[in-house]
Amino acid sequence: MSKIIILTAPSGSGKTTIANHLLQNFDNLKFSVSATTREKRDYEINGVHYHFMNIKQFKDNIEAGNFLEYQEVYPNQFYGTLLSEVKAAWDDHKVILFDIDVKGSLNIERDMYDVLSIYIKAPSIEVLRQRLLDRGTETNESLEKRIQKATEELEYSKYFDYVITNDQLERACRIIKFIVQDFMK
Ligand code: 5GP
Repeated sequence: MSKIIILTAPSGSGKTTIANHLLQNFDNLKFSVSATTREKRDYEINGVHYHFMNIKQFKDNIEAGNFLEYQEVYPNQFYGTLLSEVKAAWDDHKVILFDIDVKGSLNIERDMYDVLSIYIKAPSIEVLRQRLLDRGTETNESLEKRIQKATEELEYSKYFDYVITNDQLERACRIIKFIVQDFMK
Protein backbone atom coordinates (compact mmCIF):
# COMPACT_ATOMS: atom_id res chain seq x y z
CA MET A 1 0.00 0.00 0.00
CA SER A 2 1.22 3.51 -0.78
CA LYS A 3 2.58 5.32 2.25
CA ILE A 4 1.56 8.71 3.59
CA ILE A 5 3.12 10.54 6.55
CA ILE A 6 0.98 13.29 8.02
CA LEU A 7 2.43 16.05 10.18
CA THR A 8 -0.20 18.18 11.83
CA ALA A 9 0.56 21.11 14.07
CA PRO A 10 -0.51 24.68 14.69
CA SER A 11 1.41 27.48 12.93
CA GLY A 12 4.40 28.38 15.08
CA SER A 13 4.92 24.90 16.52
CA GLY A 14 8.17 24.27 14.67
CA LYS A 15 6.50 21.98 12.17
CA THR A 16 8.30 23.38 9.10
CA THR A 17 11.69 22.89 10.73
CA ILE A 18 10.75 19.34 11.67
CA ALA A 19 9.47 18.61 8.14
CA ASN A 20 12.70 19.97 6.64
CA HIS A 21 14.75 17.88 9.05
CA LEU A 22 12.92 14.75 7.89
CA LEU A 23 13.32 15.65 4.21
CA GLN A 24 17.07 16.08 4.70
CA ASN A 25 17.33 12.72 6.43
CA PHE A 26 15.20 10.54 4.18
CA ASP A 27 15.98 10.54 0.44
CA ASN A 28 12.81 8.67 -0.35
CA LEU A 29 10.52 11.22 1.32
CA LYS A 30 8.79 13.87 -0.81
CA PHE A 31 6.94 16.93 0.51
CA SER A 32 3.42 17.37 -0.83
CA VAL A 33 3.03 20.98 -2.01
CA SER A 34 -0.57 21.91 -1.19
CA ALA A 35 -2.80 24.30 -3.07
CA THR A 36 -4.08 27.31 -1.15
CA THR A 37 -6.13 30.46 -1.63
CA ARG A 38 -4.42 32.37 1.18
CA GLU A 39 -2.13 35.33 0.38
CA LYS A 40 1.47 34.45 -0.41
CA ARG A 41 3.95 35.56 2.25
CA ASP A 42 6.99 37.51 0.99
CA TYR A 43 9.45 34.66 1.41
CA GLU A 44 7.21 32.03 -0.17
CA ILE A 45 7.68 30.72 -3.70
CA ASN A 46 4.77 29.57 -5.80
CA GLY A 47 5.11 25.85 -6.53
CA VAL A 48 7.63 25.34 -3.70
CA HIS A 49 5.77 26.29 -0.52
CA TYR A 50 2.26 26.17 -1.99
CA HIS A 51 0.49 26.27 -5.31
CA PHE A 52 -1.21 29.63 -4.83
CA MET A 53 -4.56 30.01 -6.55
CA ASN A 54 -7.67 32.15 -6.36
CA ILE A 55 -10.97 30.82 -5.01
CA LYS A 56 -12.38 30.23 -8.52
CA GLN A 57 -9.36 28.13 -9.53
CA PHE A 58 -9.58 26.22 -6.24
CA LYS A 59 -13.28 25.50 -6.71
CA ASP A 60 -12.68 24.39 -10.31
CA ASN A 61 -10.14 21.90 -8.97
CA ILE A 62 -12.71 20.63 -6.43
CA GLU A 63 -15.27 20.20 -9.26
CA ALA A 64 -12.72 18.36 -11.38
CA GLY A 65 -12.01 15.93 -8.51
CA ASN A 66 -8.34 16.96 -8.37
CA PHE A 67 -8.00 16.90 -4.58
CA LEU A 68 -7.27 13.93 -2.34
CA GLU A 69 -8.57 16.12 0.51
CA TYR A 70 -9.25 19.80 1.06
CA GLN A 71 -10.51 22.05 3.85
CA GLU A 72 -11.61 25.61 4.39
CA VAL A 73 -9.03 25.92 7.17
CA TYR A 74 -9.87 29.58 7.88
CA PRO A 75 -12.94 31.42 6.56
CA ASN A 76 -12.42 31.84 2.81
CA GLN A 77 -8.95 30.32 3.00
CA PHE A 78 -8.92 26.93 1.35
CA TYR A 79 -6.08 24.44 1.46
CA GLY A 80 -5.93 21.14 -0.36
CA THR A 81 -3.76 18.19 -1.34
CA LEU A 82 -3.59 17.71 -5.08
CA LEU A 83 -3.84 14.13 -6.30
CA SER A 84 -1.25 14.97 -8.97
CA GLU A 85 1.35 15.72 -6.27
CA VAL A 86 0.70 12.45 -4.49
CA LYS A 87 0.66 10.30 -7.62
CA ALA A 88 3.91 11.82 -8.93
CA ALA A 89 5.62 10.91 -5.64
CA TRP A 90 4.30 7.36 -5.60
CA ASP A 91 5.23 6.83 -9.27
CA ASP A 92 8.72 7.81 -8.18
CA HIS A 93 8.57 5.18 -5.33
CA LYS A 94 8.61 7.91 -2.68
CA VAL A 95 6.74 8.21 0.60
CA ILE A 96 4.72 11.42 0.62
CA LEU A 97 4.79 13.89 3.52
CA PHE A 98 1.65 15.94 4.20
CA ASP A 99 1.55 19.11 6.28
CA ILE A 100 -2.22 19.42 6.71
CA ASP A 101 -4.73 20.42 9.36
CA VAL A 102 -6.56 18.12 11.77
CA LYS A 103 -9.74 17.75 9.75
CA GLY A 104 -7.89 17.10 6.49
CA SER A 105 -5.89 14.47 8.30
CA LEU A 106 -8.96 12.71 9.72
CA ASN A 107 -10.54 12.65 6.25
CA ILE A 108 -7.81 10.53 4.72
CA GLU A 109 -9.04 7.00 4.10
CA ARG A 110 -7.07 4.73 6.40
CA ASP A 111 -8.04 1.57 4.53
CA MET A 112 -6.85 2.91 1.15
CA TYR A 113 -3.41 4.07 2.22
CA ASP A 114 -0.74 3.13 4.74
CA VAL A 115 -0.86 6.22 6.99
CA LEU A 116 1.39 7.43 9.81
CA SER A 117 -0.03 10.50 11.57
CA ILE A 118 1.97 12.69 13.96
CA TYR A 119 0.60 15.64 15.90
CA ILE A 120 3.16 18.22 17.00
CA LYS A 121 2.20 20.24 20.06
CA ALA A 122 3.71 23.50 21.28
CA PRO A 123 4.47 23.32 25.02
CA SER A 124 1.64 25.79 25.72
CA ILE A 125 -0.64 28.32 24.03
CA GLU A 126 1.45 31.15 25.58
CA VAL A 127 4.62 29.76 23.99
CA LEU A 128 2.79 29.39 20.68
CA ARG A 129 1.62 33.01 20.82
CA GLN A 130 5.15 34.20 21.53
CA ARG A 131 6.60 32.14 18.66
CA LEU A 132 4.05 33.59 16.24
CA LEU A 133 4.83 37.12 17.47
CA ASP A 134 8.57 36.47 17.04
CA ARG A 135 8.02 35.12 13.52
CA GLY A 136 6.26 38.36 12.61
CA THR A 137 4.24 36.90 9.72
CA GLU A 138 0.76 37.55 11.15
CA THR A 139 -1.50 40.52 11.68
CA ASN A 140 -3.23 40.74 15.07
CA GLU A 141 -6.36 39.26 13.55
CA SER A 142 -4.68 36.33 11.79
CA LEU A 143 -2.61 35.66 14.93
CA GLU A 144 -5.77 35.39 17.02
CA LYS A 145 -7.37 33.11 14.39
CA ARG A 146 -4.33 30.84 14.51
CA ILE A 147 -4.34 30.71 18.33
CA GLN A 148 -8.03 29.90 18.39
CA LYS A 149 -7.56 27.18 15.78
CA ALA A 150 -4.65 25.68 17.75
CA THR A 151 -6.82 25.49 20.88
CA GLU A 152 -9.63 23.74 18.97
CA GLU A 153 -7.26 21.34 17.22
CA LEU A 154 -5.71 20.15 20.45
CA GLU A 155 -8.99 18.34 21.17
CA TYR A 156 -8.44 16.15 18.13
CA SER A 157 -4.84 15.23 18.83
CA LYS A 158 -6.04 11.98 20.44
CA TYR A 159 -6.89 10.62 16.98
CA PHE A 160 -3.24 10.72 15.89
CA ASP A 161 -0.79 7.82 16.03
CA TYR A 162 1.72 9.96 17.94
CA VAL A 163 1.55 13.27 19.81
CA ILE A 164 4.95 14.90 20.24
CA THR A 165 5.52 18.04 22.31
CA ASN A 166 8.03 20.37 20.77
CA ASP A 167 9.58 21.88 23.89
CA GLN A 168 13.09 21.21 22.62
CA LEU A 169 13.28 21.28 18.85
CA GLU A 170 16.32 19.02 18.54
CA ARG A 171 14.72 16.39 20.76
CA ALA A 172 11.40 16.53 18.89
CA CYS A 173 13.26 16.12 15.57
CA ARG A 174 15.15 13.09 16.92
CA ILE A 175 12.01 11.36 18.21
CA ILE A 176 10.06 11.97 15.01
CA LYS A 177 13.00 10.73 12.94
CA PHE A 178 12.90 7.40 14.84
CA ILE A 179 9.15 7.08 14.33
CA VAL A 180 9.47 7.77 10.60
CA GLN A 181 12.41 5.39 10.26
CA ASP A 182 10.33 2.59 11.73
CA PHE A 183 7.36 3.37 9.45
CA MET A 184 9.59 3.40 6.36
CA LYS A 185 10.73 -0.22 6.93
P1 5GP B 1 -0.28 28.28 6.85
O1 5GP B 1 -1.23 29.31 6.33
O2 5GP B 1 0.30 28.66 8.19
O3 5GP B 1 0.77 27.90 5.83
O4 5GP B 1 -1.13 26.95 7.07
C1 5GP B 1 -2.29 27.00 7.80
C2 5GP B 1 -2.81 25.61 8.06
O5 5GP B 1 -3.24 25.00 6.85
C3 5GP B 1 -1.79 24.66 8.67
O6 5GP B 1 -2.39 24.08 9.82
C4 5GP B 1 -1.55 23.64 7.61
O7 5GP B 1 -1.23 22.39 8.15
C5 5GP B 1 -2.88 23.62 6.87
N1 5GP B 1 -2.74 23.09 5.52
C6 5GP B 1 -1.75 23.34 4.64
N2 5GP B 1 -1.93 22.63 3.51
C7 5GP B 1 -3.06 21.91 3.68
C8 5GP B 1 -3.78 20.97 2.86
O8 5GP B 1 -3.40 20.64 1.74
N3 5GP B 1 -4.91 20.44 3.39
C9 5GP B 1 -5.37 20.76 4.62
N4 5GP B 1 -6.48 20.15 5.04
N5 5GP B 1 -4.73 21.62 5.41
C10 5GP B 1 -3.59 22.20 4.96
